[in-house]
Amino acid sequence: MNLNGLKDEEIKELVIEGKATVADLVDSGICPTCFNRRNDSVLYGDDTDKMIYEDDDLECFLVGNPRANGHVAISTKVHYKDVMEADEEVCVKIFLLAKKVMNIIKEVYNAESVYLCTMCDGPMNHFHVQLIPRYSFEKRGSKNFVKPRFEYVEDKEKLELLRSKLNYKGHVKTLKK
Ligand SMILES: [Zn+2]
Repeated sequence: MNLNGLKDEEIKELVIEGKATVADLVDSGICPTCFNRRNDSVLYGDDTDKMIYEDDDLECFLVGNPRANGHVAISTKVHYKDVMEADEEVCVKIFLLAKKVMNIIKEVYNAESVYLCTMCDGPMNHFHVQLIPRYSFEKRGSKNFVKPRFEYVEDKEKLELLRSKLNYKGHVKTLKK
């Protein structure tokens, strides 16, 4: 479905009715992440319960449809289409945070390794990196990037551990232009 020329309110209705998907937004050149933030999380749902770190530039959260327990995403608050468009300061910041979070995931989830990927393809997307644990019972290799997704189930103990290790003080919705 082409959403070009429609107002946020109209697209929001289509999303609620199940007529417009994330892919439709991407294909229509509308950033799904920024749209979601402008429109009360209508696309991805409220993720405050999955947030594990936040600062002025970045959000870090457990993924709602993970490929492994402990699958985390980090996204920028400012809009960049992908890593190639992101400014250097933000690149440094996101990859240093990724390194830190990967070590924490490895420890908290007792993963054997943690993989990092970023794609952000299509006419429009929003720069984010994904951190996907690989467990000892799983074979090494790139298939770990495409493990089947499943529904997130909260593990309160691990969630609190991640938050305390990242010194997370609570969710603050700040929108930067
Ligand atoms: Zn965006």
